[in-house]
Amino acid sequence: MTINIPASDKKRIVIVGGGFAGLTLARKLSNKNFQIVLIDKNNYHQFQPLFYQVAMSGLEPSSIVFPLRKLFQNQKDVFIRMAEVQSIDTSIHTIYTNIGDLQYDYLVLALGAETNFFGNEQIAGRAIPMKSVAEALYLRNRILNDYEKALTTSDNDERQGLLDIVVVGGGPTGVEVAGSLAEMKKFILPKDYPELNVNEVAIHLIEGAPRVLSTMSEQASAKAHRFLSELDVKVKLNTFVTDFDGKWILMNDGTKLRANKVIWAAGVRGSKIEGLSKDLIAPGNRIKVNRFNQVEGYHNIFAIGDVAFMIEEKYPKGQPQVAQVAIQHATHLVKNLKLLQKGQTLKPFSYYDKGSMATIGRHLAVVDLPYWRFQGAFAWFVWMFVHLFTLLGVKNKLFVFINWVWNYFTYDQSLRLIIRPKVPKALSERTPAVEEVIQH
Ligand SMILES: Cc1cc2nc3c(=O)[nH]c(=O)nc-3n(C[C@H](O)[C@H](O)[C@H](O)COP(=O)(O)OP(=O)(O)OC[C@H]3O[C@@H](n4cnc5c(N)ncnc54)[C@H](O)[C@@H]3O)c2cc1C
Repeated sequence: MTINIPASDKKRIVIVGGGFAGLTLARKLSNKNFQIVLIDKNNYHQFQPLFYQVAMSGLEPSSIVFPLRKLFQNQKDVFIRMAEVQSIDTSIHTIYTNIGDLQYDYLVLALGAETNFFGNEQIAGRAIPMKSVAEALYLRNRILNDYEKALTTSDNDERQGLLDIVVVGGGPTGVEVAGSLAEMKKFILPKDYPELNVNEVAIHLIEGAPRVLSTMSEQASAKAHRFLSELDVKVKLNTFVTDFDGKWILMNDGTKLRANKVIWAAGVRGSKIEGLSKDLIAPGNRIKVNRFNQVEGYHNIFAIGDVAFMIEEKYPKGQPQVAQVAIQHATHLVKNLKLLQKGQTLKPFSYYDKGSMATIGRHLAVVDLPYWRFQGAFAWFVWMFVHLFTLLGVKNKLFVFINWVWNYFTYDQSLRLIIRPKVPKALSERTPAVEEVIQH
């Protein structure tokens, strides 16, 4: 079956993925004399940097997702299809999806990345990832559910398993999650669960590198580490988690931790798609592209964002997998597609690093700009402003702003509801961890 898209005399660009890269591209290309088909497995765009706030009951999922169709109302040359792309046949310029096949003139792969468990099936089956809003919601339910269960558990070992949480990965996501869990313990638990002894609750952060936030400056790392320690997060560096059986976390130095919940923020790998030669796949499952974002060997297939592996002198191991790279790839590709349309020479892409930041908690953030590094309260306000500014949609901006102001003045998160999906398929992957919560 072929996906039904009206025939057109304009060149058809099929964009796979409505994340930062795909969506930026589709928006900038609409009304540019192309027929655009935007395909995503979800009917919404997700703002991943704020997933952890959904997981920590600070924001509703609807505040950080945006319906794709709403963005393209009244755009007659943009077609949206909710479908999962499974493979490509480059010889006949066709993609295959779960709802049918489709031919393209130009194909742009903006598939993003998925959680990388580095081949450890045992951990993959039990740890909780945070790569979709559904997973963030699952984590929220699981945390709250476990606190409820801890209230009625008299067995000390079981209670410790329910209360303690291990976060694996000391990058921005792990640091943000660990910091906000620690704040939840400090501000919320004593009020909501006065019968629980908060001193029994331990938040652990395990990082394989010698410092947290290893992609940021040493100054930012040191400050973030200090902020985490002040919030009583137990940080362990130079350590890799090697196993998790649902109760015990085993580390490469032979030590063990008792916790039923492991939050996995230890890495990502490019999302998979069949049909490209193995030679085109770089370490980390990213697709090798040249400086014009063309998949090596193809003039009409491009990869942008997290899934693209582009080498620059400054980035011999590929550019970082962050939102700015995705947006800049997309913006540059718009220019190159227009040049291609006119038969002109394409221009090579260079990534301009505008800086990076991470928040640890209230008045605790770190910011590295190209010529200025700062930490603390001002950094925290800058972090909030930048994230609010980048969020899509006026309503979302307003809702997030109101939530943040409310949380700021009340030291509270108002959304601590355990809402379980009735239809289990609402979650993207039914891992044993997901199965377990569905059964409860
Ligand atoms: C928890 C978390 C926090 C983060 N925080 C920050 C931050 O603070 N700052 C920052 O710069 N970056 C951050 N990042 C990274 C940033 O979100 C990514 O770099 C960015 O989203 C990459 O954009 P993308 O368009 O390449 O991929 P994505 O935004 O992941 O979009 C990929 C899209 O492709 C769709 N898709 C995937 N496979 C298929 C398929 N087979 N068929 C159809 N559709 C498919 C997905 O549904 C998704 O919509 C964070 C990431 C996470 C997970």
